[in-house]
Amino acid sequence: MIDRRRFIVQSLSLGAGVSLLGLSACSRAKGPAQTIKGQPVIISTWRHGVEANGAAWKILKNGGRALDAVEAGVRVSEADPEVMSVGYGGHPDRDGKVTLDACIMDEKGNAGAVCFLEHIMHPISVARLVMEKTPHVMLSGQGALEFALDNGFLKENLLTEKAKTLWEEWLKNGKYKPVINIENHDTISMLAIDAEGHLSGACTTSGAAYKMHGRVGDSPIIGAGLYCDNEVGGAAATGQGELVMKTLGSFLIVELMRNGASPQQACEEAVLRIVKRIPDYRESQIGYIAIDKSGQTGAYCLHPGFDYALTSQGNTILYDAPCFLKE
Ligand code: ASP
Repeated sequence: MIDRRRFIVQSLSLGAGVSLLGLSACSRAKGPAQTIKGQPVIISTWRHGVEANGAAWKILKNGGRALDAVEAGVRVSEADPEVMSVGYGGHPDRDGKVTLDACIMDEKGNAGAVCFLEHIMHPISVARLVMEKTPHVMLSGQGALEFALDNGFLKENLLTEKAKTLWEEWLKNGKYKPVINIENHDTISMLAIDAEGHLSGACTTSGAAYKMHGRVGDSPIIGAGLYCDNEVGGAAATGQGELVMKTLGSFLIVELMRNGASPQQACEEAVLRIVKRIPDYRESQIGYIAIDKSGQTGAYCLHPGFDYALTSQGNTILYDAPCFLKE
């Protein structure tokens, strides 16, 4: 049974004006997360996933396609200047540039991605166009920007005054070191299954705060930040991208599920792979979410503090993910 202290948002009543600040007063659930087989389901990373899932649910509840749902969902975080780890308002790199990474996969295994993209509010939609309009999987940097502008996207300044001020503060000390669980590592990754049973996923981020200019993380890399296989399930990542890239975490999770692991077991195994392979893993946070074809979900992280939003039957619950390190 779900913990009675669980936090439930009736997604249908979630309007654009719902403030995530209001959520911080609520209790969280410990899980295991509950879903109903054969029903649409959405799972996404972090607290801002609650509002993103609300937008995705509006599509799924009307019989819409999972691909449309995940795109619409993560666009909410991309456009929200208070989410300082994704899109507009995201922390810049150490040179003060907001550079964005995103990828998307549909139920047919098609994939699209952009990386090192500047000035575009919705990189996930550019990634979708790469998937649908080009023979390629990924466009980067200036080429991705030109492709976006050619397709009607607007060139915008994504560096907010708030992010600029924080960056100027950071410059005074100026050393990059990952900081666990403060809001510089909160990529939104979302997986959804629609009423047809089709699975899609999306992942979008401004990347690690104050990263080196030109650095690309795991989030736009198919198989690292996101992987979906409609016959098996999907997985997605957040956290220090280099650890995910070295272990190809999302692909690993899907392959483990293919071989019989539950989504929870597969997420735990992928975190353990990092623990075994990467000596200084304690310095970073990693969080994985996964869903299998039947709608069962899993999540696991390295350090306490990773939460994820699960929407089923119009209810969204924010869960604390179990973690490897207990402190
Ligand atoms: N995975 C992202 C990156 O490394 C950031 C994050 O989710 O924390 O760029």
